[in-house]
Amino acid sequence: MQQLLANITKHLHSICLWPSRHVGSEGDEAAQDYIEAVYRSLGYSDVSREPFPTTGWRFGNMSFVDLDNACAVVPGALPCFFSRSAKVTGVPVWLTEEDLKNVTAEQVTGRLCMVEFFSDGGDIRGRNGIAEELDRLGAAAAVFISDSDYHTTCAASTKIQRSPLLNTMGAAVVSEEGAYYMANNRTHHFALAIDADTFPYTSHNIVAVRQGKGNKRAVFGAHFDGAPMGQAACDNASGVACLLEMARLLKDEAPDWTFEFAAFDAEEYCKNSNLPTGSEAYTVAHPDRKWSFFMNFDSVGMHFSKDVLHVGQQEKLPFFKSRYPFLPIKNGGDDRSFDRLEVPTLWFNSHAKFKDFHTPLDTIATLDIPRIGEFVQDAVQVARQLCAK
Ligand SMILES: [Zn+2]
Repeated sequence: MQQLLANITKHLHSICLWPSRHVGSEGDEAAQDYIEAVYRSLGYSDVSREPFPTTGWRFGNMSFVDLDNACAVVPGALPCFFSRSAKVTGVPVWLTEEDLKNVTAEQVTGRLCMVEFFSDGGDIRGRNGIAEELDRLGAAAAVFISDSDYHTTCAASTKIQRSPLLNTMGAAVVSEEGAYYMANNRTHHFALAIDADTFPYTSHNIVAVRQGKGNKRAVFGAHFDGAPMGQAACDNASGVACLLEMARLLKDEAPDWTFEFAAFDAEEYCKNSNLPTGSEAYTVAHPDRKWSFFMNFDSVGMHFSKDVLHVGQQEKLPFFKSRYPFLPIKNGGDDRSFDRLEVPTLWFNSHAKFKDFHTPLDTIATLDIPRIGEFVQDAVQVARQLCAK
């Protein structure tokens, strides 16, 4: 256990070293290099970087100030992931959920829009739809509210719109304190400037394969990209740390099986586009492989959380037992790519009490490292159980 925890700590510190690990960032590339280096240091000879086309995001800086209050900075404001550059001043147009149903170009063209819409955490497509519609109508920028049903009130989720496909519009988000500030100053003139851009990006899934003697195979995976502007420690440096330790601990297990350890980029980009997520690209690149199961590590081991296992295609694993409560797979995550192919999926996950996800507060401090160690030990047992069948 000592070794395991030391390794997990080292992985977390290495993966979270850079200020941001969103798709196309320096941290994203550094994570790829680190993962490859760990696979090689573990003695894997079949290590590859599998390219796939996606969209990267560059962020320079942002300022959002109240021109009618001595340029006071709007508190808790951040750019949304995949914002384009914007420079706009004026009194914001407030748009409620009702207004959004009939919004016109006349109302929003060239304007700074304040979107008073509280999202359903699951309806990513619907939320992106708002940003995409305002973009299409010619809004200069839209400011969203990071709501506390799904996020902490202390910091804004930079993935509140989760990578919409924007042509020209800037997108920013405010935490609760920023929303109150805006609401109390609805008649004020604000200035929002965002320096950011998207660009075509070839990313890579980083894969190590342990060739087995038989023809059974399984995939162990975790995405290494994270929400911009933070360590993205829980989501998902924690999962990558588990994956790397699985690669170490399973190296000599179940020699009949071929094990693939796949670290994915771009977990949830491009749901509305034709470009694949990292895990989709992986399944598409290997159409002939018949995987018996996919074991996923995404967001594990926070303090004050409840550990669960999301299981997909569970009827194909009638013998399977675990101490974790089983939940059906949800609509997101890398499980989806394998579930489409009717591959049983097992997603080790913790349900958090706190809501730091996709905010700059998702730091290593949120993680209970001994608990991540227990996850890995349990996952090894689960893998043994599945491979014994
Ligand atoms: Zn995740």
